[in-house]
Amino acid sequence: MERTGTDQTELDRAIIEYADIEMEVARLVDGRMNHVCATCRKPCCRADVCAQAIECWFLLQVSRHVHGQWWPKDWQSRKDPFAMTENGCLLKAGRPLICRSFVCDAYTEAYGSLWEAVFLSFVSDLLFLAGQITRSVSVESLDESKAPAYASRLRQRLAEARQQLDLAKRLLDPAETELDKHRVALKLLCLAPRCFRATMRRAILDRIGD
Ligand code: SF4
Repeated sequence: MERTGTDQTELDRAIIEYADIEMEVARLVDGRMNHVCATCRKPCCRADVCAQAIECWFLLQVSRHVHGQWWPKDWQSRKDPFAMTENGCLLKAGRPLICRSFVCDAYTEAYGSLWEAVFLSFVSDLLFLAGQITRSVSVESLDESKAPAYASRLRQRLAEARQQLDLAKRLLDPAETELDKHRVALKLLCLAPRCFRATMRRAILDRIGD
């Protein structure tokens, strides 16, 4: 049974905060690029990647918190990407980090405006980087015995990720001025430079033009 209120441990809070950020990312991003993935002849979802959502202890706690028990009994022998449904991936939270972090050229080429390009570039690596707790420990390498010792540091990283995500959302807000969006983009580039990998930087430069 899930603990609530004052009974929650630091680790419980980290799991909830991680799930909240991932759910928000899912709300903002999922479905935005369906037109690209729908015509792709090399779909990148695979059963062995779905399996990471069950095999990684921390991700399993996140997906359980949000979805309950979602995985099929025979998941270990499944060849299909068993988290995939006709409406896209079943997992709004607790996805393997690579699922959001991996982007292909067709995906970045289909970004719309400059601000969408900056936003999607930033957000695709947000959890990948926030989940890297130290150089050698990430949420995907935590097990039940190790996790409590890293919960506090993970919460700090998630708090920074939350602030950056709130800032990035201004790029999608039609009420923000162009000047403010330039400021937001510059701040993101300074605060989270590692989110902008070479493919993303190319996509952004394409939209800025000469
Ligand atoms: S996005 Fe979902 S269906 Fe695709 S590999 Fe990841 S977990 Fe599996």
